[in-house]
Amino acid sequence: MCGFIGVIGVETAARDVYEGLLAIQHRGQDAAGIITYDGRFHVKKGEGLVRDIFSAANFERLKGSLGIGHVRYPTVGSGGGEDAQPFVVNYPYGVAMAHNGNVANYEDLRADLELRSLRHLYSGCDVEVVLNVFANALASAAAGEFRLDGYYEAVRSVYRDVRGAYSVVGFLAGRGLFAFRDPFGIKPIAMGRRREGGRDAYAVASESVVLTALGYEVLPWGRPGEAVFVDLDGKVHRRQVAEPDHHPCVFEFVYFARPDSTIDGISVYRARIRMGERLAETFRGTGLAADVVVPVPDSARTAALAMAQALGVPYREGLVKNRYVGRTFLMPSDAERRRSVRHKLNAIEEEFAGKDVLLVDDSIVRGNTSRQIVRLARSAGARRVFFASTAPPIVHPCVYGIDMSTRREFVARGRSLDEIAREIGAEAVVYQELPDLVGAVTEGQSHVDRMCTACFSGLYPTGDITPEMLLRIEEERVVQGR
Ligand code: AMP
Repeated sequence: MCGFIGVIGVETAARDVYEGLLAIQHRGQDAAGIITYDGRFHVKKGEGLVRDIFSAANFERLKGSLGIGHVRYPTVGSGGGEDAQPFVVNYPYGVAMAHNGNVANYEDLRADLELRSLRHLYSGCDVEVVLNVFANALASAAAGEFRLDGYYEAVRSVYRDVRGAYSVVGFLAGRGLFAFRDPFGIKPIAMGRRREGGRDAYAVASESVVLTALGYEVLPWGRPGEAVFVDLDGKVHRRQVAEPDHHPCVFEFVYFARPDSTIDGISVYRARIRMGERLAETFRGTGLAADVVVPVPDSARTAALAMAQALGVPYREGLVKNRYVGRTFLMPSDAERRRSVRHKLNAIEEEFAGKDVLLVDDSIVRGNTSRQIVRLARSAGARRVFFASTAPPIVHPCVYGIDMSTRREFVARGRSLDEIAREIGAEAVVYQELPDLVGAVTEGQSHVDRMCTACFSGLYPTGDITPEMLLRIEEERVVQGR
């Protein structure tokens, strides 16, 4: 999972891009970069957090009213600083690009680009493949002067050749900002407009929170498979270049997105409330009863509150998080992750001592976090510990860019509910039912009726994920020790 922002029409694009990256830092803490243009390209990339990479001196240099930026979350293949996005190619016109997603046929495309197009890739980052497929098609379609038709043709080629899931932002040097989202629309994207010095400035970002934080009015994004181009006069051009088959990622709503974002017009916050209400029904159906509901901070808070209200049980923030310890899931090795969970959370004994506690988290992946938290609850004196997950059991890898680890590591794979409870040390574990999860997101939304649920159901909406691809992804993860 990654985050991006692109801006056109403001005096110093880098300022907006930088602030936008801060607003989506949660989407990736591994590396970040900004590219701007003012007659020439200006680039700054690095590893680590946005606030540590960019300095005042960089902003002196990152000139121009056209710019894009990216925060990276490590997925398959993403390595050191040279893999940090955005990327740029000089031909044709000068194209800069960043994306959020994962290219499933990366190896095939890379070989094809090197053998047939004689393009040599600079990094192991999959957006470079998208960029080069795009640039190839743009060069053959445009034949000299830039035309919008050439741009649409280039996006069509990307849709035809690039498998997987991707939302893309980029710019053509001195011509305009572009953005497109693959026909399955698995990855989120949002666009906004702000009145700036008598003209309209536009921004495109992974999450709407970037736009609202920067004072942009959020505009409806078209259907997936559409290509958008904003020219230097602030005119927006758009064309549907592939038939949409919309399946937005349900896990964005569970965990990834900020609650103050909307995705495809659906409030993440409202969806999480409905998840809590539906999970309360499932919990009630088990016949179990709790004295207190305690959320695992932070992403489970909204759902846990709704769940407690629906159950008529007190909601208590009994776990305190040290906000200066980074996200444990993003730690590269399992040992580091385990150590970090212990440093990250602490329990308030009054909320646990002698009570039957219902802990609520957004999801259980390997079970490490839940095991440690159950242990914490017990050492704080809990009598019985129940563990609820607002997501169903995760049993299949994500090939679209969310790091879900390998099948072997999923605690729920091949285990019954009782066995999972035993694994994490709880008296019982309660999962959201998949139809309830999808229903919680799509309730009252006529424009979204299907979602990508691959990590729960094994149904990959792009229809082209072969067992060999899944195996290859697993092998790469094992080699990387992740
Ligand atoms: P685990 O310890 O592997 O079971 O991880 C579960 C915890 O990690 C939960 O508390 C989630 O909030 C969080 N989480 C779940 N999926 C992801 C992901 N893809 N990336 C980062 N964190 C995640």
